Amino acid sequence: MNIVENPYLTLFQKQQAYQFEVGNTTVKARLQKLNRLKAALEVTYRSQIHVALKKDLNKSITETDLTEIYPIISEIKHVKRHLWHWVKNQKVPTPLSLFGASSYIKYEPKGVCLIISPWNFPLNLTFGPLVSAIAAGNTVILKPSEMTPHTSALMKTMVQDLFDETEVALVEGEVETAQHLLNLPFNHIFFTGSPAVGKIVMKAAAAHLSSVTLELGGKSPAIIDQSANLKTTARRLIWGKLVNCGQTCIAPDYVLIDKTSQDVFIDHCIKSIEFYYSQLPETSNSYGRIVNQHHLNRLKSLIDDAVAKGATVAYGGNIIESENYIQPTIITNCNNEMRILQEEIFGPILPIVNFRNTEDILHHINANHKPLAVYIFSDKKSFIKTISNNTRAGTTVINNNLIQFNNHHLPFGGSNNSGIGKSHGYYGFKAFSNERAFMKQHFKGISEYVTPPYTSIKEKIAA
Ligand code: NAD
Repeated sequence: MNIVENPYLTLFQKQQAYQFEVGNTTVKARLQKLNRLKAALEVTYRSQIHVALKKDLNKSITETDLTEIYPIISEIKHVKRHLWHWVKNQKVPTPLSLFGASSYIKYEPKGVCLIISPWNFPLNLTFGPLVSAIAAGNTVILKPSEMTPHTSALMKTMVQDLFDETEVALVEGEVETAQHLLNLPFNHIFFTGSPAVGKIVMKAAAAHLSSVTLELGGKSPAIIDQSANLKTTARRLIWGKLVNCGQTCIAPDYVLIDKTSQDVFIDHCIKSIEFYYSQLPETSNSYGRIVNQHHLNRLKSLIDDAVAKGATVAYGGNIIESENYIQPTIITNCNNEMRILQEEIFGPILPIVNFRNTEDILHHINANHKPLAVYIFSDKKSFIKTISNNTRAGTTVINNNLIQFNNHHLPFGGSNNSGIGKSHGYYGFKAFSNERAFMKQHFKGISEYVTPPYTSIKEKIAA
């Protein structure tokens, strides 16, 4: 399609025209914007957010507070503490050969940015990156997922209430809408979603040489060593696996454990599931639902495929189709031929894979794409070191999972297939900033002495 016919060209051009005004705002003005967003999340729209997420994902109020609202508020608080420092020009040394000059780095906004977000934490993953984009002084167009329509509609109302469309606008729509937006020459595209769509985004970005941050997914393993406390490990892993019904990019996808520890571990897992959600999770107010029937069928087919190829459902497996409900499910006797060990699960199913030795573990992980996270449960320094040094991943947490998301001092993101670029805190600010190099040369300096003709410096000084 010709760019002139693009339905979002006018909006894009308005933001383009306004970008220097936004870019030149003071820290105080940017923090005022973030304070407005914070108040909207904390007070004005909080109960409407609870209702929207209940409708879209059956999220309980507490889970919505903990996983959708609080992480954005805490990101804003972090920015408020540090933005004054981040925006300062950074002086850097200048080599003696350039005597007479001084050098510094200025963090300038990228300009007009596009944020495309997924459905699994629809509020958090739309407004989270927005905080960084505003902090860095950009104008932004947001395109949330069509699969969580109540939350997307509410976010649109919030954005219209809080911002002028020349600085922040939200466009609702499906794939076609995203494609129209991707045809525009954004200065930066921040995409959160699947690796498959990440490749489409990167291709589109290449047409304009837009920079990208890609927050993608994959299979994050949890490795349990014999030295691990199995009860605590099970409690933490079951929590991490079942938050948001397993629809979490950094959820532990599968477990690697030696055969001799497996039965005790599963026993602790079952106790943890029943402790968190009772023996009937379908009646628990704390247990979520699968986003839609398509994903329910996808998950069902992962279980069926595994069972057909020799796996055992050790616990769970019940499905209530009319409610998009899948019981927390543990699967044993898994092998690499099964789709459940090939595709990102993104649901409340935990496959258990056995290993005989450390080489087995490394071989298994390194035969696949680099995961978003590698979780190691162990009390043995040497084991932790061997796994950390011989695998590659976006993050590693030792003896827990998921908690890395809430430390804003850490870069968040994957590596290659699980992501390109980082977000959160300073790293989010940097993702939306161009590190512009400045040099200031004083009128008297050494550069005149290195211009042609290449005679001796003595002669030049004399001249
Ligand atoms: P998705 O890639 O299907 O969709 C994400 C967004 O891209 C949506 O807004 C959608 O409308 C848009 N989109 C879909 N197809 C498109 C196309 N062909 N062209 C342009 N845009 C398109 O992802 P999803 O199903 O919403 O989310 C699940 C995936 O996201 C999982 O892989 C998960 O691991 C990943 N994820 C990653 C993170 C992270 O921070 N790394 C966080 C959450 C989810």
